Amino acid sequence: MTRSTDIVVQKYGGSSVATPEKVRAIAERIATCLAETPRLVVVVSAMGKTTDQLVALAQQVARRPRGREMDMLLATGEQVAVSLLALALQDRGVAAISLTAAQCGIRTDGAFNIARIQSIDTRRILSELDAGRVVIITGFQGVTGVDDVTTLGRGGGDITGAAVAAALQASVCEICTDVDGVLSADPNVVAGARLWRELSFEETIELASSGAKVLHPRAAEVCMAYGIPIHVRSSFHRNEGTWIRGGPDMVMEQAAVVGVSADKKIAKVTLLNVPDRPGVAARVFQDLAAEGINVRLIIQSASADDRGRITFILDAEYADGAAQLIGRWKADGITSDGIVDRNVAKISIVGARLQSTPGLAARMFGALAREGINIDCISSSEMKVACVIAADEIDRAVRSVHDEFFPAAAAGQRANVLSS
Ligand code: ADP
Ligand code: ASP
Ligand code: MG
Repeated sequence: MTRSTDIVVQKYGGSSVATPEKVRAIAERIATCLAETPRLVVVVSAMGKTTDQLVALAQQVARRPRGREMDMLLATGEQVAVSLLALALQDRGVAAISLTAAQCGIRTDGAFNIARIQSIDTRRILSELDAGRVVIITGFQGVTGVDDVTTLGRGGGDITGAAVAAALQASVCEICTDVDGVLSADPNVVAGARLWRELSFEETIELASSGAKVLHPRAAEVCMAYGIPIHVRSSFHRNEGTWIRGGPDMVMEQAAVVGVSADKKIAKVTLLNVPDRPGVAARVFQDLAAEGINVRLIIQSASADDRGRITFILDAEYADGAAQLIGRWKADGITSDGIVDRNVAKISIVGARLQSTPGLAARMFGALAREGINIDCISSSEMKVACVIAADEIDRAVRSVHDEFFPAAAAGQRANVLSS
């Protein structure tokens, strides 16, 4: 592995720069950090709910706004944020320059709205650092080989932070946000959630992909691949947060469950009376793939009369696309009818030793049962057990399952938790 440089990459999320006052406070924070880390690259997201507002604006002029023009629109939010932060730094006498993805050579593929970074040409960034400037880069966006603007998907500022850190071989990628680090549950839902001092990349990827939006899973994947440690910490104070890294220190025995997470942005599709013969499931999932619809969980059950049921879970944004396909499947005799249920949510427990520790799933189901919460579907993998339940019960479910695995009395049991 290549040796890390003295460069630090800090990524500030939208909540950290939501108002002009917060932008000034972040400028102040950056100025303080410069004393310790003079070579600082900062990646910034759009202010507050700007991206949501831009999406809502597009929906007022088009029914399903997407593609190239949507990215032209969404990328504007980040440009506002970086220029304001550079102005605020210059106002304090700190040399700073803001750069868009095009200006600092962040190349992506051409998959508008869900683009993937292919390369970063670090020359401009390095020359600006050499000139003694703080380099402030737009998160979430890139450009294709023909200079079309792309975006990386919602929450993609984290991916930019990770990719820039990897390209620069930074000593750390700091994800600066509105919570103290990665906790055992969303602290806005569970008041007593525990702050982890250290997590492995694998645990973090699993937590993030099951709904803990504090970090984008692809950001952790990039840093894992390039061996860059991540430090998730608060934007509003300088206390240590959660270190995410790999290596021998991280393979020690850890708590079986490190998090309880919720995914509220899902929908469930059930296809009824599906003929029990080869090729039917292939046809359904080929059609979904052809529409670019990513399926997260599949349950197929056969019944005695050669007709079965296929249930699958997808991201809520794909529910309309799946509903359209149901019409086609009915016409072709694949199903007698299909139901799209948008009032569902998924609760997951995550941990590296889940599969090798008996009884954890039973404890999760027991905690839900005690609250009278019905489980609709269950899935499990090596590091996760997930249940689909009614959307309006999700917060109560998370609190109950969290209480089961993190009762106050068990505080500090995990080897690498330092209670502060
Ligand atoms: P940013 O604007 O910095 O990108 P996000 O809103 O994307 O911030 O992510 C931070 C939020 O993630 C927190 O405010 C918190 O509500 C939520 N969150 C969900 N699960 C967790 C968890 N396990 N640990 C910490 N935060 C979590
Ligand atoms: N501004 C983008 C979003 O709201 C990217 C990000 O915040 O990371 O999704
Ligand atoms: Mg985010």
